[in-house]
Amino acid sequence: TNGTAGHDPAANGAAAAVRDVVIVGGGTAGWMTAAYLTAAFGNRVKITLVESADVGTIGVGEATFSDIRHFFEFLGLAERDWMPACNATYKLAVRFENWREPGHHFYHPFEQLRSVKGFPLTDWWLRYPTSKRFDTDCFVMASLIDANRNPRYLDNRLLEQEFVESDDLPNTIAEYQGAQFPYAYHFEAHLLAKYLTKYATERGVRHVVDNVVDVGLDERGWLSHVTTAEHGRLTGDLFVDCTGFRGLLINKALAEPFVSYQDTLPNDSAVALQVPMDMDKDPLRPCTTATAQDAGWIWTIPLISRIGTGYVYASDYIDAEEAERTLREFVGPAAADASANHIRMRIGRSRRSWVNNCVAIGLSSGFVEPLESTGIFFIHYAIEQLVKYYPAADWDQSLRDQYNGAVMNVMDGVREFLVLHYRGAKRADNQYWRDTKIRTVPDPLAERLEQWESKVPDAGTVYPRYHGLPPYSYNCILLGTGGIDVRPSPALDLIDEKDALAEFQAVRDKARHLVRTLPTQNEYFRRMREGV
Ligand code: FAD
Repeated sequence: TNGTAGHDPAANGAAAAVRDVVIVGGGTAGWMTAAYLTAAFGNRVKITLVESADVGTIGVGEATFSDIRHFFEFLGLAERDWMPACNATYKLAVRFENWREPGHHFYHPFEQLRSVKGFPLTDWWLRYPTSKRFDTDCFVMASLIDANRNPRYLDNRLLEQEFVESDDLPNTIAEYQGAQFPYAYHFEAHLLAKYLTKYATERGVRHVVDNVVDVGLDERGWLSHVTTAEHGRLTGDLFVDCTGFRGLLINKALAEPFVSYQDTLPNDSAVALQVPMDMDKDPLRPCTTATAQDAGWIWTIPLISRIGTGYVYASDYIDAEEAERTLREFVGPAAADASANHIRMRIGRSRRSWVNNCVAIGLSSGFVEPLESTGIFFIHYAIEQLVKYYPAADWDQSLRDQYNGAVMNVMDGVREFLVLHYRGAKRADNQYWRDTKIRTVPDPLAERLEQWESKVPDAGTVYPRYHGLPPYSYNCILLGTGGIDVRPSPALDLIDEKDALAEFQAVRDKARHLVRTLPTQNEYFRRMREGV
């Protein structure tokens, strides 16, 4: 290597990266991709995004993972910049209601699990259940959410907690694990897409509003162009398919098969409503709520000035009309004027998300039902992987294979995690819930479920490759849903419990202090919106 290697790619075996990108689709996936690539590569890459004015976006998905903060940070956006524009609020957990029995609730919070003498606190709790609730005993967050607290003080300081990353952050998901940032966001997806449209176009992304009516392939079967109704052909090197469930490029033009998850996750439909709420009167709960229903579950997502809600159900068990009726009854009079949005979901993933010169990101790549808010996480993760395995003009096959492996692992891992919710749910009061106990589970999960009966999940027994969900998440769902009996480790019988009991007490003390000092979400967001 010599000093000029950086200027001459060929000198050290590097091939020149491709520079002309066409993104088809302007939903959350399309605009997140455009904005991120612009932030990563600046004007060294030419980006065109084409979206249809006729084909709408999904945009009901509004709850996220805490990793999403790295996305905004990478773009250089502070919360005060984008949150008010997207009606965003904080999310500290998913709250599960009625998965065990009517009236029961538990949280899956953004908080790592403490351990004492090498055993996780959940294991100690099984041996010494200091109260009926594992979540408030083991996690500080659970009590904060019960009390509708905000994770920041009015002067914007973050709550003090163990396992919280420092404010001096790395900026990709991959660089950060082990620690846990204590919150994620709820936001209006279509407002975020609008916000990112401005961000990306101001930085040079060409925005074409038109219908793609045809897709051109060359003699090798690679994409050469897309044809639009009014702007003619758009050519590029790399095409990103963000066309949603249609999979216009990946599944239609390139005929990549779709691998359905429906045999293990039967919910295939949703009906959604936007319900107005009054921030001065209604408490803003700092969590997403998933309330179990007769044939699925209802999400409740508090936003500034409205609540997003919807029933995710299996059409084999109830029809759309009944689902809508159930949802309207659940919401009550506030839903009277809201119009319902019925959605058919494609559950599973494209066999490969990157084929030749086409990368599918978003719903075209894959989707599991929104139970743990993983849709936007899949998008964010995929974009990071695209940058990591970005192609050169020689289209090294290995980069595509590594990308496909990473994306596949994330979705297959999340699938296992979601199946655990249903298999673990104690509820078995009708055919839908009884069937969740006998339906096939993804192969390796069957063995893991047996292991977890004898020992709470740890890094050695959960899905082994990165999929965004640490072992503590599995502990929460297993202990919260309550249908699978989990035994404590026998060794705990022989170890002095003094330190564990002190740790439970420390969790309670910390929670009490934070509940006393933190503001409510309503107070905090009123301030933020007043620009104080
Ligand atoms: P879409 O929003 O469908 O966008 C497709 C784009 O392609 C549109 O711009 C359209 O105009 C364009 N297009 C299509 N055909 C053409 C054509 N021929 N020419 C030009 N343009 C075209 N995710 C979460 O993270 N959290 C959640 O809580 C959550 N909840 C969800 C609830 C439900 C019921 C569903 C279905 C999804 C949920 N998701 C959630 C997932 C999330 O909504 C999606 O991942 C996200 O919105 C990305 O969608 P998308 O951009 O891939 O597709």
